[in-house]
Amino acid sequence: MMLRFLHVCGLLVVVGMLSSVVWGQEPEPGMLPKTEMPSVIVVPPAAQASDHFEVQAATDAYLAEIPAQARARSDAYFEGGYWLILWGFLYGAVVALLLLNLRWSAAMRNLAERVTRFKPVHTIVYWAEYLVLTSILLFPLTVYEGYFREHKYGLATQTFGPWLYDQFKLLLVGLVLGAILLTTLFGVVRRLPRTWWIWGAVVTFLFEVLFVLITPVYLVPIFFKVTRLDDPRITQPILRMARANGIPVRDVYEMDASRQTTRMSANVSGFGHTMRITLNDNLLRRGSPEEIQAVMGHEMGHYVMNHIYKLIMFFSIVIVAGFALLRWALDWSLKRWGEKWQIRGISDTAVLPLVGLLAAIFFFVLTPVLNSYTRVQEYEADMYGLNASRQPDGFAQAAIHLGEYRKMSPGRLEEWVFYDHPSGRSRVYAAMRWKAENLGASRQ
Ligand SMILES: [Zn+2]
Repeated sequence: MMLRFLHVCGLLVVVGMLSSVVWGQEPEPGMLPKTEMPSVIVVPPAAQASDHFEVQAATDAYLAEIPAQARARSDAYFEGGYWLILWGFLYGAVVALLLLNLRWSAAMRNLAERVTRFKPVHTIVYWAEYLVLTSILLFPLTVYEGYFREHKYGLATQTFGPWLYDQFKLLLVGLVLGAILLTTLFGVVRRLPRTWWIWGAVVTFLFEVLFVLITPVYLVPIFFKVTRLDDPRITQPILRMARANGIPVRDVYEMDASRQTTRMSANVSGFGHTMRITLNDNLLRRGSPEEIQAVMGHEMGHYVMNHIYKLIMFFSIVIVAGFALLRWALDWSLKRWGEKWQIRGISDTAVLPLVGLLAAIFFFVLTPVLNSYTRVQEYEADMYGLNASRQPDGFAQAAIHLGEYRKMSPGRLEEWVFYDHPSGRSRVYAAMRWKAENLGASRQ
């Protein structure tokens, strides 16, 4: 949800992606009501330890637990998401081009300049106008993607009123965070007309760190109720595993994701002292104890392998490259169309739709790279989680539950381009291989 909303301003996409390293999915409206997926997933006979245990047969037996109808539904939902990447990009591009060519952006700048002579305030006023206008123009897609489509696939739990209210809160969060980032960035551009792109990248990097730092403590509670878990039957095995892996946590948190969605998920979020492990209530309600432990082992893998810090470093490279390209592309476009769009230069706030458009192109092209980077981290966390929890069947059960909103068996290229986590099939296979080789499942 956060991510989708922040698409309004291309620059913010990056920080949105950094907010957490997730097992399933960033908290988003929509999850799964009745996909006819089994709620309790049993260990199929072919996956039970025996002297004729075969990894592939065990994997197939787990996949066969998914009813054909549920699989068709999840495939359709996930494949629809591929097209939404394209439609979202094209729709956003059309909106940006409208703002530029109809000179609405220039008009919004003129209005902002009439309010005050104080430059940082221009930026804030312009940003407010821009954010409200683009949110209205993009609303048909937002409401389809975030509300109607989620309900159609039985993933959403909210009625329209509360959903809209959450969108409004997102708008306010975007208004504040965007205002801080953009006033700083335009300040940098005005003072350092030659090297702004380097310092702009530095500012964006610092903002990214700040964003990750405040997300679990200040942003998530705006949308969800976060509580300390106090059921020792759940927390004790988790904390025991945490101590065994050198993780200094004393608490595990629960989030009421079910107010938006039926999806199960868990995540590690934050930075330094704000880093924490959170389970959503759908996982707690529907997951078996083995499943919860497998998921927690995965989250601990993110923690121990410093995935958030590595992700921040990776994104800083992306950001520097993005700013270098941005400088070149802005010069090139403004030379050709700047006058027509009535944009005075790169320090003019009216340039924002162009920046958004260029950033959208950049991130659209990078989709497979960004997905592959996180998918590799997720695979690492999977392996860590199997070793830490020693619950391959719980792990397979979780992979099937996530199959409620993620296609289980994609093609190889499809997985490479579109998957930010390993596919369910890959995860079940890895779990069964682990089981065969480490629990002696095939030799008993
Ligand atoms: Zn993960």
